[in-house]
Amino acid sequence: MTSISMPNIWVLGDGQLGAMMKHAGQPLGLNITPVDIMTPSDARLPLGANDLITAEREQWPESSLSLQLSQHPHFINGGVFTRLADRYSQKSLLDDIQVATAPWRLVDSNVSNAELFQQLGERVLLKRRTGGYDGKGQHWLNASNNSAIPNDWRELSIAEQAIAFDEEVSLVGARDANGQCHFYPLMLNLHQDGILMATLAPLARLKPLQAKAQAMLSRIMNSLDYVGVMAMECFRLGDDLLVNELAPRVHNSGHWTQMGCHINQFELHLRALANLAIPELSIKCQVAMVNLIGVEYDPRWLSLANTELYWYGKEVRPGRKVGHLNINATDPERLSETLKTLKLWLPSQYQAPLTWLDDNK
Ligand code: ATP
Ligand code: MG
Repeated sequence: MTSISMPNIWVLGDGQLGAMMKHAGQPLGLNITPVDIMTPSDARLPLGANDLITAEREQWPESSLSLQLSQHPHFINGGVFTRLADRYSQKSLLDDIQVATAPWRLVDSNVSNAELFQQLGERVLLKRRTGGYDGKGQHWLNASNNSAIPNDWRELSIAEQAIAFDEEVSLVGARDANGQCHFYPLMLNLHQDGILMATLAPLARLKPLQAKAQAMLSRIMNSLDYVGVMAMECFRLGDDLLVNELAPRVHNSGHWTQMGCHINQFELHLRALANLAIPELSIKCQVAMVNLIGVEYDPRWLSLANTELYWYGKEVRPGRKVGHLNINATDPERLSETLKTLKLWLPSQYQAPLTWLDDNK
């Protein structure tokens, strides 16, 4: 038998997603190198002709280092990043391929706030076209107080209708090089102030929406001839799904798969990129994922028998994602116990998300 050579994979970005990708690649024998593209540097990377390039973020500053990666012939999904990183082109794509999304329009230099209210309703959410994350880059307008469009948001933002959703769900899937799509079960998400606090998956009551969600994400990935993992965040209104936004990468709401599936989202992405086999995704257990946001490391977390900690090793700052906990939710009583304990250990903003997990399990 000839020996198999596995490709080296380089990741644009060296945050927690790149680190978890590297971690997932190790048992497969894949050599993954996350690259810091935020710190200015004249370094040249020893990229091989057969190496593969991926990204853990949608946007990055242009530098000789980032250009070396993004101009490599094997930068997978190269053209997709700019297309999805701009909400204007992302929403336009969804409209073009007729995938339902929250009603919207570009905030151009002429539109008045009255026109926005007339077209989109009493409450309108402005979102920066690029660079927003964790609820940053959002600005609400209310017809009741006739709020004005900030001048520096014109041309640089889109306006969206306020959606009175029942809840937020997301779907993570991958498309392989043969065009076949693979999906995890739908996930239930709780955001607070625009930032993901907790995810619960899988959930029996979301099963009836699975086929619809898969059809939407398949259509999106196929239209982009995409390879790898993509996440689709949705609003659920009754039996309908509206796409909120897309991420052409592994996604925070998919972290539960590290505990809950025999192939987690990071490994799934790598298998798709490297054209390795992707068998049916086998779910091991229901998982409650809690994001650790702006909280100090607490060694007591390690005493929870049904819980796995992922600590990102970043400096703790308010509002910053610094880790997550995956809690095995198979035994509802044990899950309740663990959530009760965490309520004692985590600050006040965690009370509602922990109760929410308990109520939805
Ligand atoms: P991410 O960190 O996921 O990239 P983001 O800050 O880029 O998030 P969105 O996902 O668009 O931005 O919005 C964050 C949250 O704000 C959503 O999860 C939802 O809770 C709320 N939100 C967004 N759009 C709307 C809308 N049109 N109507 C009501 N709530 C919304
Ligand atoms: Mg989002």
